[in-house]
Amino acid sequence: MSLTSIAELQTIIQNHIAQRPLPLASETLPLAQAAGRVLAQDIVAPVSIPSSHVSAMDGYALPQAAPAQSSLKIVGESAAGSPFTGSLKIGECIRIMTGATVPDACSTVVIQENVNREGERIVLQQDAPAAANIRYAGEEIQAGQTLFAAGRILRHADIMVLAAQGIASVLVQRKLRIAVLSTGNELAEAGSPIAAHQIYDSNRPMLHSKLRDCPADIIDLGKLPDNLAATVQMLHQAAEQSDVVMTSGGVSVGDYDYLRQAVAQVGTIHHYKVAMKPGKPFVFGQLGSAWYFGLPGNPVSGFVGFDLFIRAALWQIAGATPIPQPLRFQAALTCNVKKAAGRADIQRAIISQNSDGTWQATPTGKQDSHRILGVSQANAYMILPQECGDLAAGEMVTVQPLHEVFL
Ligand code: AMP
Ligand code: MG
Repeated sequence: MSLTSIAELQTIIQNHIAQRPLPLASETLPLAQAAGRVLAQDIVAPVSIPSSHVSAMDGYALPQAAPAQSSLKIVGESAAGSPFTGSLKIGECIRIMTGATVPDACSTVVIQENVNREGERIVLQQDAPAAANIRYAGEEIQAGQTLFAAGRILRHADIMVLAAQGIASVLVQRKLRIAVLSTGNELAEAGSPIAAHQIYDSNRPMLHSKLRDCPADIIDLGKLPDNLAATVQMLHQAAEQSDVVMTSGGVSVGDYDYLRQAVAQVGTIHHYKVAMKPGKPFVFGQLGSAWYFGLPGNPVSGFVGFDLFIRAALWQIAGATPIPQPLRFQAALTCNVKKAAGRADIQRAIISQNSDGTWQATPTGKQDSHRILGVSQANAYMILPQECGDLAAGEMVTVQPLHEVFL
């Protein structure tokens, strides 16, 4: 039987989540705290931007176009925040600053670099064309226009736009409660020395760290030894208090791998195993009303599994529409790469841009799933398709920056 491909598993996860949306309550947040959260309301613009016709430059506002050498009398001033309230005739102008309202009596602005100022008069150094250097009312945003739809992941630029609309707070979806558990008899906590048969738990801090970029309140379930009864009990407890449960370790076929058995007792496994290296065992299921993701213990597998399957799923569960897609592009291999056909290989690589604008990719040494330093040296994944075999230097591969840039 052929293994599920990465794309198929992504679709399976997406379809399950779409069929059973979590009931999400929303909360109101001050605007400056809302970036990175999912908007829970449509936002209709209360005001037009600009709200009046304003000057785009520092210069002089004229009633109409005028040819070079025209001499005009300055009869007033319009500054940002202090509009000109008088009237003016042909042959007159006002001094105007960037962002200041252009009076109704003026139809064009000439920049100050193009005039000679002589006391209370200016002389145009070149023709002043009609309708120049003015930002018209509503040119950027019309009051009543829908600016953002519910489901948008708010970006820093959105905060700027909303602030310009005089909006001080927004309704966002609440954060997900995400429980994180490590399993393995060999695991030890930082802060105490370890025996030769032990290792420090690196998955839990790594997952906590990744979850900082997601709309998540983390429930730290600590670590458990490889014990079925204890695992079952912990999964029951986790399911009750969280929206998503994430575990690492114990999903393979070893004698002490109890996670699948435990998940099957407490809930349902929707999918297991994906045609991917690293991280073939990957469990997706549900525990009561909580979604469940079971990552393999090897830290590199967990790291990659999170990026390929879990991050997008979390955004979907959190109510984001559309579901964000990672940035991917093509880069040329700088060396030969060994690869067996049959499983997609998510290699860790260093990408850099060439002087002609194209990109190149170099794998960070050996790619076994315990090699954590290579992940940290990398700045991108190389996504080598399931069907492809060995690759030669110069061939083009798809890369995805490790530091998430969502499209
Ligand atoms: P498992 O998936 O439980 O078979 O574990 C696979 C490998 O990952 C083993 O070498 C484990 O010791 C290691 N491992 C499991 N959990 C962790 C963890 N939390 N941190 C670091 N390594 C781990
Ligand atoms: Mg284990």
